[in-house]
Amino acid sequence: MHLKKLDFPAIQTRMNVDELSELCAAIERATTLSMGPYLHEFETAFARFLSIKHCFGVCNASCALELAAMLSGVDEGDEVIVPAHTFTASALPFLRLKAKVVFADINPRTFVMDIVDVERKTTPRTRAVVAVHLYGLPVDMDALMDLARGHGLMVIEDCAQSPGAEWNGKKTGTFGDFGCFSFHGQKNLTTLGEGGMIVTNRDDYAEKILGLRKIGQRPFVNQSRYWLPAMSNIVEAAPGLVPYNFALGEIQAKAGTIMLRRLEEINRRRRENFAKITVALHHHKELRFQESPPIALSAMHLLPARFTMTSSGKSRDDLIEMLHNDYRIKCVVQYYPLYRYELFQKHGYADDGSCPETNRFFDSMISFPFGTDCTDDDVDYLILSTDAAICLLKGA
Ligand SMILES: *Cc1c(COP(=O)(O)O)cnc(C)c1O
Repeated sequence: MHLKKLDFPAIQTRMNVDELSELCAAIERATTLSMGPYLHEFETAFARFLSIKHCFGVCNASCALELAAMLSGVDEGDEVIVPAHTFTASALPFLRLKAKVVFADINPRTFVMDIVDVERKTTPRTRAVVAVHLYGLPVDMDALMDLARGHGLMVIEDCAQSPGAEWNGKKTGTFGDFGCFSFHGQKNLTTLGEGGMIVTNRDDYAEKILGLRKIGQRPFVNQSRYWLPAMSNIVEAAPGLVPYNFALGEIQAKAGTIMLRRLEEINRRRRENFAKITVALHHHKELRFQESPPIALSAMHLLPARFTMTSSGKSRDDLIEMLHNDYRIKCVVQYYPLYRYELFQKHGYADDGSCPETNRFFDSMISFPFGTDCTDDDVDYLILSTDAAICLLKGA
């Protein structure tokens, strides 16, 4: 077997040569580099792609989540349910609002938030739920929306890893009150670095987002001389809220429009690679990949699996070490349960034992390098190496 190098952080989604030259031509033509026609074009295309009414480009998904949290009506002391197994950005806005974050556990087979546990943790003080479609796999949105309707909960979908993923034929981000997307360089759809989108079907929220995203600027009414004053008016978007500048630049927006055309193809290819890898390694019962319910269509953002101790006593860490040392494949372990971070502990959170699956998963999970530009060769190399490594660990 010829030794290759598969590196987790190097797995970026890249533009091809044609896409780059289209982007350069658009930069040359541009008359403004902020809040111009390219942003409008990207928002319109994304709205059509999702089948949703309103889309607003923002600088990243963290800002989208910030806006969603701010508009969710969550107040100091309110409870917000967030999976303990997620990227930190899903929960951070609620720390700032001094809400009480209630951690939900994951389903041990799908690795995403378990709605039965969300229901168990819902109280009269619960105000919102953050549904994270982690690794590209939608959480059970039928069960969650039923629960939310029954208890009057706001639903914020964290779709940073799931653009184009579907639950029962409907795209993630279109179920809840808000959908928050990331176009970071390593996500399925990239705007070359930072980028994000907040989406909603609600006209009233859309109006408020417009007033918060870009310094609250509106045209002055009855402005007889264009130069007086030079800047546009600033209005209060919603009672008590002060605007930010979370705008997405024109060049990022154009990159997004160009890459969006290829998103379905990117997701399809990721699913094909996933299928190939899981079928090829299925005979190793120690290695279990994410299980997708038949009603879900995953965007396959990452390739997480659970590796349980072999009878020879070898662990997940031994597998990662062997793949790295002998095959130059760099796997990682993610995500640190949120309550173990110092920041969350400073805010009074601790492991209260209510998310046992999250803890168990962290101890056995392995995340393989997996990206948009994985070639057939990379996939074959990953399969052969992992197969060989597990056989060696089992002493076969
Ligand atoms: C990447 C990510 C975010 C944050 O996205 P940014 O665009 O980097 O701010 C939020 N939630 C999840 C689940 C993510 O993977």
